[in-house]
Amino acid sequence: MTRKRIALVAHDARKADLIAWIGVNIQALDGHAFWATGTTGQKVRDAQPGLDVTPLKSGPLGGDQQIGALIAEGRIDLLIFFVDPMTAQPHDVDVKALTRLATLYNIPMACNEATADMIVSSPLFSSGYIPRAANFLDYETRKV
Ligand code: PGA
Repeated sequence: MTRKRIALVAHDARKADLIAWIGVNIQALDGHAFWATGTTGQKVRDAQPGLDVTPLKSGPLGGDQQIGALIAEGRIDLLIFFVDPMTAQPHDVDVKALTRLATLYNIPMACNEATADMIVSSPLFSSGYIPRAANFLDYETRKV
């Protein structure tokens, strides 16, 4: 198994769903390394004490931005983000920034359970699959 570095985030209304999803998929997830926004991380630890989870700050207090920074530094392989699309979030701009960086850096990202199911059941999840690295050469060498 290639140990993946997985970021976990769940909005309040989706935390129970994420915990349940982790329980169902514990065999696939066990042995990987996890970073999570604060409250999500604490709940995952309580439910699955065997998982290696590093909690960061709570999302509205900067946790989403911390995960974004880890992505920009090449330290996250996968983002599982159970989004609540029915509730306005005080940190909406942070959520947007996080999903933007995951897109920019070509990180697999599940924003709902069905996509998360597809990712963990994919043969690529258990292989040494490395996504094509994002190339910013044109941007970095642009004339300004
Ligand atoms: P939380 O943050 O895990 O600290 O609740 C999640 C979020 O970004 O809303």
